[in-house]
Amino acid sequence: MELKIDLEKCTGCGTCTFACPFGAIEVKDGKAHVFDLCTDCGACVEQCPEGALFIGVRVAGSVRVQDYRNVWVFAEQRDGTLTKVAHQLMGKARQLADTLGAQANAVLMGQNVEGLAQDLIADGADVVYLAEHPLLEHYRTDTYAKALADLIQEKKPEVVLFGATTVGRDLAPRISQRIYTGLTADCTGLDIDESERLLLQTRPAFGGNIMATIICPSHRPQMSTVRPGVMTVPVPDKSRQGSVERVSVNLADDDLNIKILEVVREARRRVDLEAAKIIVSGGRGLGNPEGFKMIEQLAEALGGEVGSSRAAVDSGWIDHDHQVGQTGKTVRPELYVACGISGAIQHQAGMKESKFIVAINKDPGAPIFQIADIGIVGDLYKVIPELVKQLKAAGAGSKI
Ligand SMILES: Cc1cc2nc3c(=O)[nH]c(=O)nc-3n(C[C@H](O)[C@H](O)[C@H](O)COP(=O)(O)OP(=O)(O)OC[C@H]3O[C@@H](n4cnc5c(N)ncnc54)[C@H](O)[C@@H]3O)c2cc1C
Repeated sequence: MELKIDLEKCTGCGTCTFACPFGAIEVKDGKAHVFDLCTDCGACVEQCPEGALFIGVRVAGSVRVQDYRNVWVFAEQRDGTLTKVAHQLMGKARQLADTLGAQANAVLMGQNVEGLAQDLIADGADVVYLAEHPLLEHYRTDTYAKALADLIQEKKPEVVLFGATTVGRDLAPRISQRIYTGLTADCTGLDIDESERLLLQTRPAFGGNIMATIICPSHRPQMSTVRPGVMTVPVPDKSRQGSVERVSVNLADDDLNIKILEVVREARRRVDLEAAKIIVSGGRGLGNPEGFKMIEQLAEALGGEVGSSRAAVDSGWIDHDHQVGQTGKTVRPELYVACGISGAIQHQAGMKESKFIVAINKDPGAPIFQIADIGIVGDLYKVIPELVKQLKAAGAGSKI
């Protein structure tokens, strides 16, 4: 990695010579030249008005950040249905684009998915780029990465957002590598620095002990994956107007490293915690895996899903699909019941936006009580069976 100068773009203005703290740049014959004193600190890169300076080895020429405009969402769909995070991101993209005075656009990829475009427009999209191709019917890293990277290079968005789903976490780094830009993974907050048109990408760091805000000042687009469930789903406006632009997809069988022979659906029922209105979660306080039978009974009585803390997952009592928190799912149900969960910050990071929180814990000093709307201090093995009994007697599950 080293400082490089794109001599075609350099106008010899000399701004970099003043920006360099080491006196390592000089303008000669109308162009900037770098000398051995350069430490690759990058101070000049930020100051160059022409975007002619960059650190590293470019794969596709240097970037003029001002050439990039508009906020994009990779609108992930599965089997012809938009993922919930696609709606969430579209709502956020609309807000960011309004702040930037730009368009909020969606990229919809697949085969026979045109019908979803109107939903994205209702969520706030100005333009939906529709990339349909038989080779895009099922997600594959190589085809999706090529098609999306080509489109980004052609249209030059300044921001591209992906859901931090299995697909998004696989696709976004491939794109960032192909087009040589930065990527902030697993963001929980996005904002705009209006003076610099920078995307402020916030995510937990150092085990959740600090929130780091990351910027990508010298490369475009600015790319983030965003945790599902963190942003709110916008209220769809069916009267909104937007356009659908069909884009050409340049893919051939040669672009495929993987051939799909058959799609076999997983037989087990998948938990959809992010969409659940009611969640009953169990933690280490259950004491053993059998405790989750009682959690299931309470969830069933309330008509909800079963969640868990990481301690319960790490103990092998329940599958990771159920984990709520920083390294699990982010949820915001109407009702969250935490049973035998202390309320560590990493757990709270995934559930504190729940509308109503009930905590059952035998320790009155447990941190979960600080965010609970109702706290029950007691042994969960006494409290939960009684709750289930009362709820069943009241026929609660069907009424909530
Ligand atoms: C980088 C990182 C990421 C993490 N990500 C996550 C995450 O995504 N999700 C997550 O949950 N954690 C996460 N953690 C772990 C987190 O720090 C806690 O260790 C974990 O949440 C504790 O789980 P717990 O509350 O079930 O267990 P504990 O903290 O051990 O709490 C058990 C609670 O049960 C109560 N209890 C015990 N017996 C009974 C009883 N009979 N009746 C009633 N109450 C009882 C106790 O009073 C106690 O409060 C992460 C940690 C790190 C470092």
